[in-house]
Amino acid sequence: MITLKAFKYRIYPTKQQLIQLNKTFGCVRVVWNHNVEIFNKFDKNKTEQESPLTSTLLRKKYEWMGEVSAAALQQKEIDFKSFKKNYFSKTRKKKIGRPQFKTKDGLQSFRLPNQKFSLSDNKIRLEKIGKVKIVLDREIPNNSKFMIEDLNVSGMIKNHNLAKSISDASFSEFYNILSYKAKWYSKEVVKIDRWFASSKTCSCCGWRNEHLTLSDRTFTCKACGFEIDRDSNASKNILNKALRVINAIRTPSGCQTLAD
Ligand SMILES: [Zn+2]
Repeated sequence: MITLKAFKYRIYPTKQQLIQLNKTFGCVRVVWNHNVEIFNKFDKNKTEQESPLTSTLLRKKYEWMGEVSAAALQQKEIDFKSFKKNYFSKTRKKKIGRPQFKTKDGLQSFRLPNQKFSLSDNKIRLEKIGKVKIVLDREIPNNSKFMIEDLNVSGMIKNHNLAKSISDASFSEFYNILSYKAKWYSKEVVKIDRWFASSKTCSCCGWRNEHLTLSDRTFTCKACGFEIDRDSNASKNILNKALRVINAIRTPSGCQTLAD
């Protein structure tokens, strides 16, 4: 499975780099707005339509554009083309409005293709701008874990009146989504095998009630007297088991009351 990961950084450009960034914003805006202008000039009654200048030609026309990354300008041209493709798409469900001019006051952005920037620990090298200091905007918490039980759901359906909507198929789908999300946030998913008696085992002392049925909503331990809601007991067992899997050895979590 491929996991795409996104990071958000805050950049700390020098004065000189800030000037360069602003120039780049300005130049990509020219490319975009030129394309918008030509696009909006389209007149279906005319036989000859004006076509926009390519970013290369715009760069030749306006000498000052040579100071910024040609790739950034080209990217903006590509972005407009995909806007156009989207605009005229027959399979598109929602109608999108006409392209808008970008202004100096709006959100400023430009994009660079992969080969035009590189990341190191605390710097990003941008073409024509140089190495700019970066800091990760939000630390992603590590080492958190999800524990889930691989339930023998189809077996449960056969034996008991459980909702028909639950099935092994939807469980594995759920597991896949959870694994994907977990990987994204650098977390771990531990799957507990379905033969683990999570409901029948006392989460306090480990005694097993082999005669527990689905109608028993409270787990009462005949060995230590611990009383707990059935599902809370099962989830405690799943957690303990998962932690044992992770840590190899794990001490019992201690007896807590029914309420938790
Ligand atoms: Zn017990």
